[in-house]
Formats: sequence, C-alpha cells, structure tokens
Amino acid sequence: MQKSIFIEDIRSGKYDGEVVDLKGWITRTRGSNKIRFIVLRDSTGRIQCVAKRDVVGDAVFENLKAALIETSIELRGIVNVDDRSDGGYELVIQSANVIGEVNPESPFPITESAMANSDGGETEFLLDHRHLYLRTSRMTQMLKIRSSVFGAIHRYFRERDFTEYHAPNFVAGAVEGGSTLFEVPYFGRKAYLTQSWQLYAEAAMPALERLYTIAPSFRAEKSRTRRHLTEFWHAEMEIAWAGNSDVMEHGEKLVRTIAKTLLDERTEELTELNRDLDLISRYADNPYPRMRYDEAVEILQDMKVDIEWGQDLDYSKEKVLTQDFDVPHFLTHYPKIAKPFYHRPDPEDPKYVLCHDLLAPEGYGEIIGGGERTWSEAEILQRIDEEGTPRGPYEFYIDIRRYGGVPHGGFGLGVDRICSWLSGAEHIREVIPFPRDSRRVTP
Ligand code: ATP
Ligand code: MG
Repeated sequence: MQKSIFIEDIRSGKYDGEVVDLKGWITRTRGSNKIRFIVLRDSTGRIQCVAKRDVVGDAVFENLKAALIETSIELRGIVNVDDRSDGGYELVIQSANVIGEVNPESPFPITESAMANSDGGETEFLLDHRHLYLRTSRMTQMLKIRSSVFGAIHRYFRERDFTEYHAPNFVAGAVEGGSTLFEVPYFGRKAYLTQSWQLYAEAAMPALERLYTIAPSFRAEKSRTRRHLTEFWHAEMEIAWAGNSDVMEHGEKLVRTIAKTLLDERTEELTELNRDLDLISRYADNPYPRMRYDEAVEILQDMKVDIEWGQDLDYSKEKVLTQDFDVPHFLTHYPKIAKPFYHRPDPEDPKYVLCHDLLAPEGYGEIIGGGERTWSEAEILQRIDEEGTPRGPYEFYIDIRRYGGVPHGGFGLGVDRICSWLSGAEHIREVIPFPRDSRRVTP
C-alpha cells in the first residue's frame, strides 16, 4: 500500500520521482481525448495532475474525463519536478478512483468566472452559496489565518497564567447599551443574548484574578458597516489589581503577538492574499502610541470632520483618523458621557473615564475597547443612577463591589476585526465562515 500524503508534502521535495497516493477534489479540468490536465485540491494546496489514455487505460480515462469540478477523487501517480507547473510539481497519474461525483444537472456554481464577477467575494450569490464558497482558495487562506489568530490568543493568556473562564450567553441586562440588545423569549419572560462576557467575568475576578475567554458576543447592529457583525467572536480579559495602563500593556502585547504569530505561521497565505508582510512586521515590532480623546477630536476638527466634544467616535470618524497611522494607536480618556456606567471616572478629572480604545491603522479603526472598572459600591451606584439604568439586573454586579472590591480592569478584542485588518480584507464578512448581519442568517 502506498502512503497517502498531502499536496504540501510533495512541495517539501522528499517525494521527487516517487509513486504516491493523493486524495482531494478537482478544481480545474481540461484536455483532449488523449490527455487530461486536472488540478487537484486538498486542504494543503493544489497540484496539476496529468492523465494519459495510454497510461491509465480507457476506463479510468473516461471516468476522469467525465468528472466535473468538485468531484472527489483518489489518485496514484509519480511525482514529477516540473518548473512549468504552478508550485514546481506535477503528478503523472497511474490510476484513479472517483469517490464522490457531482450531479451534472447542478454543476458546482462557484467557478472562477462567478468569482471574477464578484467584488471581493461579497455578492449575494456568493453569500447564498457560502457553504460552497468556503472551498475557494481565498476563503481557505482566511480561515487558516483565523485559526492562527485564535491559537495566538489562547497561547498569550495561558503563558501568563490567565484562567479560561466562561460566562452565560442568556443574560438579563445590557453591557453595551440597550439599542443593540437581542431579545429572546425565555419561558414567558424576556432574556437577551450577551453583548460581552465582562460583567460575569468581574464576578470571578476576586477568585481567579486573571481571566480570559474567546466566545461569541451578539449585538443587534442595524447599521451595516465593513466591521460589524451581529454575532462576532470576542476575546476578553479581566485582571485584578490593575489600572488602565496595565490593561493597555496587555492589549498591545497581545496584538503584537498575534501579528508575530501570523509572520511565523501564515506568510504563504498572507502573500497569496497580496498582504504586504512589511506592514505586519511593523505591527509586530513597533510600539503603539497613546493619545487622549481630546487630542483626537482636535485632529479631526482640523481635518474638517464634523465632530463635537463628547461624542463617541464611530466608524466614519475612526476611518479618517486612522488612515495615516503607521501602527495601531490607543485613544484614552473618553468623556464620561460617551461611555457606559462601568467605566471608572478619572479621579484627576471626573469628566473623563479611565478607558481606552485601540485603533488599527489603514482606516480599520477600533479593534479593542477596554479600561479600568468602577470598583467601589458608592461609585458604581452613583454611575448607574446618573445613567438612569435600573439597578435590578445589576444587583449581582453591585454585590461584587460590596464584598471586597479591588481596582481592576480588562478589555474586549474583536477577533474577526483583527483577522480582517491583518489579512487586509475589504469586509469583516470575509474572515468568518458564516457571517451574520441584519439581513442574513442563512445559510
Ligand atoms: P463599535 O463602536 O465599532 O461598534 P464598540 O465600541 O461597540 O465598537 P466594544 O463594546 O468596546 O465595541 O467591544 C469590544 C470590541 O469588540 C470592539 O473593539 C470590537 O473589536 C469588537 N466588536 C464590537 N462590536 C462588534 C461587532 N458588531 N462586530 C464585530 N466586532 C465587534
Ligand atoms: Mg458597537
């Protein structure tokens, strides 16, 4: 029995001239009545395979000739070094088995011409066929990059003794404001899908001190932008005995670690996506400057952007601000009126809160939101009341402060957003297998 290998094993050079077995899917097929050229795809790459009628025999040749794009096949053949073919190798087929046929009445719809007519994979047609679009090389590259980003986040926190911790997804109250809450019927009552893990992580902060998660968060985002999903993956951390600056340090190190990990693991994918690796190196190596909110507002006003002090920065403003940044920048000290109750007012000037957003360059904008939490009972009650938020759903949260509160803080990183920025995607939809937005929950 021949050992079954992957296409990338052939590229490593150790099978030159040998007979190997490959399994995969046909992504392209052409040829004549005597010779067929088949591009085979597996999870590791593509390779051109050649079948000659006088080598494989009539029966196999006819099967291969009839096989449509996305038919799954098993091949045995000789590895041939061939500079003319993509990747430098070719497989000369000796025998072949068709495993899974494609119905000729509904041939595979995602052909290269369907892709060419789409702009960056975003037409409704491609979204309707997302389950099949996942097989394209662009999507495969995105998903491999995504996997490396998740791995880097887990490693970052685990190497620093953070405990992975889980919060409920059905909740009774908002974290990020009522306007983006998803309401779900809950046995005759109303519940909501969680917008963030944070409040429940704060409850375990006095026990675990350093916590993190990567979990989905849900927000009923009505405005459709290139950076909003209704279900997104949220990497969050919470740490005891820490202030705004300590939390920012973790955010910066984590983002740099993610960039470095992509350079270690995914240069091939990034290059195929036409991503400039020098940019990723810069994000991995250079420090991220910190700037106060007030300074950002002044810069925007100088650029004639319509913004008033006290407004949160939405995508349209961050896009302009970050267009010329060469690395991510932290914006700190937002006005209290722009942020939810759990942000701690700055004791030096309580008009501001001790918070930060990390804004990615190239017009991408916010990838992290974080800061120091309001941690004394008196202060949290004052913040909840002045915001006009009912205390009821937050009684548990207030309790955390009643029993040995300590200074603490944390942040939330949008994992899909960082994937989108680092891979150079046009739209956040490109980096998640089945994107959810206000118009789409299928397939
Ligand atoms: P935005 O102003 O862009 O809506 P936000 O201020 O609501 O973001 P936070 O509540 O601070 O965001 O959430 C933390 C992080 O989660 C954000 O920095 C972002 O990376 C990510 N995030 C928030 N909302 C979404 C969303 N709808 N889709 C994808 N990622 C999101
Ligand atoms: Mg938001």
